Amino acid sequence: RGKKMVERVKFLMDKPDRIRNIGICAHIDHGKTTLSDNLLAGSGMISMDLAGKQLFMDFDEEEQARGITINAANVSMVHEVGGEEYLINLIDTPGHVDFGGDVTRAMRAVDGAVVVVDAVEGTMPQTETVLRQALRENVKPILFINKVDRLINELKIDKKEMPIRLGKVIDHVNKLVKGMAPKQYETWKLDAAQGTVVFGSALYKWAVSIPSMKRTGVGFNEVYDYCKEGNMKELSTKSPLHSALLDAVVHHLPTPVEAQKVRIPVIWKGDKESPVGKDLMTCNPNNNIVFMVTKILTDPHAGEVAVGRLFAGTLERGQELFVTGTANTNRVQSVAVSMGAERMEVEKIPSGNIAAVTGLRDAIVGSTGSTLREMTPFEAIKHVSEPVMTVAVEAKNMKDLPKLVEALRQVAKEDPTVKVEINEETGEHLISGMGELHLEVVTKSRITRDRGIDVLTSPPIVVYRETVSGTAGPVEGKSPNKHNRFYIIIEPLPQNIVDAIKNGDFSMNMMELERRKTLEELGMEKDEAKGVTHVYGTNMLIDVTKGIQYLKETMELIIEGMEEALKNGPLAREPAQGIKIKLIDVKLHEDAVHRGPAQVIPAVRSAIQGGVLMAGATLLEPVQKVFISVPQNHMGNAVREIQGRRGTILDIKSEGDMSIIEGSAPVAELFGFAGDIRGATEGRAMWNIEFQGFEALPTNLQNEIVLNIRKRKGLKVEIPRPSDYLE
Ligand code: GDP
Repeated sequence: RGKKMVERVKFLMDKPDRIRNIGICAHIDHGKTTLSDNLLAGSGMISMDLAGKQLFMDFDEEEQARGITINAANVSMVHEVGGEEYLINLIDTPGHVDFGGDVTRAMRAVDGAVVVVDAVEGTMPQTETVLRQALRENVKPILFINKVDRLINELKIDKKEMPIRLGKVIDHVNKLVKGMAPKQYETWKLDAAQGTVVFGSALYKWAVSIPSMKRTGVGFNEVYDYCKEGNMKELSTKSPLHSALLDAVVHHLPTPVEAQKVRIPVIWKGDKESPVGKDLMTCNPNNNIVFMVTKILTDPHAGEVAVGRLFAGTLERGQELFVTGTANTNRVQSVAVSMGAERMEVEKIPSGNIAAVTGLRDAIVGSTGSTLREMTPFEAIKHVSEPVMTVAVEAKNMKDLPKLVEALRQVAKEDPTVKVEINEETGEHLISGMGELHLEVVTKSRITRDRGIDVLTSPPIVVYRETVSGTAGPVEGKSPNKHNRFYIIIEPLPQNIVDAIKNGDFSMNMMELERRKTLEELGMEKDEAKGVTHVYGTNMLIDVTKGIQYLKETMELIIEGMEEALKNGPLAREPAQGIKIKLIDVKLHEDAVHRGPAQVIPAVRSAIQGGVLMAGATLLEPVQKVFISVPQNHMGNAVREIQGRRGTILDIKSEGDMSIIEGSAPVAELFGFAGDIRGATEGRAMWNIEFQGFEALPTNLQNEIVLNIRKRKGLKVEIPRPSDYLE
């Protein structure tokens, strides 16, 4: 105490057993914002006045008033337990509209998660999603049951019923944990008696846990009585939120050293016995530097700031780091940690901390900065959603074009769920994102408001995918000079393998033996598992040829041909997914001059394009899950809104006098849904949307949509045939 905060933070920074890196995850409205603000205020890092203010403002005003937390990628707090201080780094303090991506990326940087669940609503769809993301990254959860005051004051349950209601919420979360992470269940299940569950009210700033009750004497009885009397002030003094919750964080969430032992094997598939593998497994501060970027901020003063987790080594100004995917090194200009919500520059930061670094120009979210030139990259951060919609933007004033190009580059760096491309036929800039609202935030807030560039935006269009429903081949691809021939078979890649690629159970970064074993366990034949050469999206290239001369040195070009064919599929130039390409025979010219890029790439590309068309090429459309909560008398109208959009109703539950409808519908049919559902329910419906996946378009729409897309893209308005690509 008394010591300056800077000194206290610096003192803790190089003591990993005194560090906890955590994230908060919750279904929307369950209280994540209120909770993070109050933790920060409670630990004296921001003023109590500011915390909670946002509740009365809309998001634009809110953003200005709360600039500190909103623009901070992380905040740090010092918390005392049993006479010892701890540094608690809280990642991804919530700001305005979140599209799920921030939470996903934050999970990579942290070791523990506080899962917030509303005591009245219980677990909701997003609770499930965020919990899955945490467990997938081997991030340990504790549970905060929020809004307990509502049980007492709104639902008016009696004293005896309270533990029963709360117990139900815990059971439900445990069921989810058991389903998602059966292996961890025994050690990670949430248990109030142990203290991994905390009960409280973020709004009224109090919380209790079984261990806190022993210390403060404030048990469920007292909580009930204080709430009933409306004496929240006293309750928050006797059993403050931040002490009960942060005590649980310190006691039950792992230190960086403990966490890396279990997390590295799931997020990094390199050799654990190599020197860098050992550094990562032990969080070694004294050897290779491994810094993974999970967020990029554009700061008006400092410029681009890369924030992320330092898994190994010690960062210092002036170091030269390799950035994965680039050949050059970047020089570290400054290193900082957070103090409250402010960045504080320091001389060095040891492993196990969250660091903010300037100077890593080439880094994007997901990059690794390392002292090693060749380093097995971390597994890609898996986003639940994929871009489903695209808009074209142009600068209103031609002279703003260079500024727009730069802004788009930065937006894509900051938010990896945004994809920016140039349409080569028209020269338009295309931005793809998760939905109408996401694209609106990108164009209106990130580009126009933040960077002062006026743009014209086209109406949004849907992003499609292409795949195959059957088998074709052998298909022959001939090089323009006819001296090289490639024989391939096209098949659908089995769904369980597609899933394994998506959730990281299979990766080309795995050691070769592990890779083969994984695929064989998933049912792939031995020969094929051995021949897997390249994975592109969820497409796989398998080489089952034997002893072909020059093939090895030609493989790079074959891969390039594969990527070209699948980046823009043959049906409508939409990306392809779930395709297995088996290379069964190859004839190559013996003179390298005659088997260069101009020969090999088009031969492979056309074989795949033609082959896909022969294998039952199918257009897939994005489908979203729709959750609607609406008073029961409007339920029928809400259901009709989904059904009328080629939608499906999956489930209807009632909760008091509300109905909770779970349905799904294609993105293409959901334009204008906001207005229509408001109209249909007198504005009484609350709803949200989540990405479900890409699904085949109904047969009667296939050709029509293919032709529409081709027309829009300026392609020949005809259903393509294999002969368009093959001789
Ligand atoms: P987020 O969407 O998860 O960030 O949720 P917010 O923190 O914005 O909270 C959503 C709403 O719930 C706001 O109106 C809060 O005032 C309210 N709220 C949050 N915590 C509590 C609580 O403990 N009790 C009650 N009654 N309301 C709360």
